[in-house]
Amino acid sequence: MAVNGTGPYDPQNVFARILRGELPCKKVYEDEYALAFHDIAPKAPVHVLVIPKGPFVSFADFSSKGTEAEITGFTRAVGKVARDLKLEAPGYRLLSNVGVAGGQEVPHFHVHLFGGRALGAMLPG
Ligand code: AMP
Repeated sequence: MAVNGTGPYDPQNVFARILRGELPCKKVYEDEYALAFHDIAPKAPVHVLVIPKGPFVSFADFSSKGTEAEITGFTRAVGKVARDLKLEAPGYRLLSNVGVAGGQEVPHFHVHLFGGRALGAMLPG
């Protein structure tokens, strides 16, 4: 079910629980600012989620409330994950759903990183 992208932040959301180590994930990368792990229901040969470590509901929340260090650190982590997965040369897609119209289901900001094949049209339909 789609969620409100503007909060309040629910500390029991599934990604918060992954960050606390209460739920497992297939980790790809972790640093001070970000955790990256494989999506549980991949939509492409590579489908990785990158999440910030702070309690941000969505990109809307993160872009307005994240510190410069958090935003820079997270952005660099996304780029590093794509590079480490060797997606730069063939290309890849970043996507972040925000709120109900965006189809966001997990209320912790995350970027989807898709790759491993030609990804086709930007949106269905
Ligand atoms: P969104 O619609 O942008 O909120 O996407 C949420 C994504 O999280 C979906 O692609 C789900 O398959 C994925 N997801 C949900 N629970 C988990 C989990 N426990 N581990 C990894 N991915 C998950």
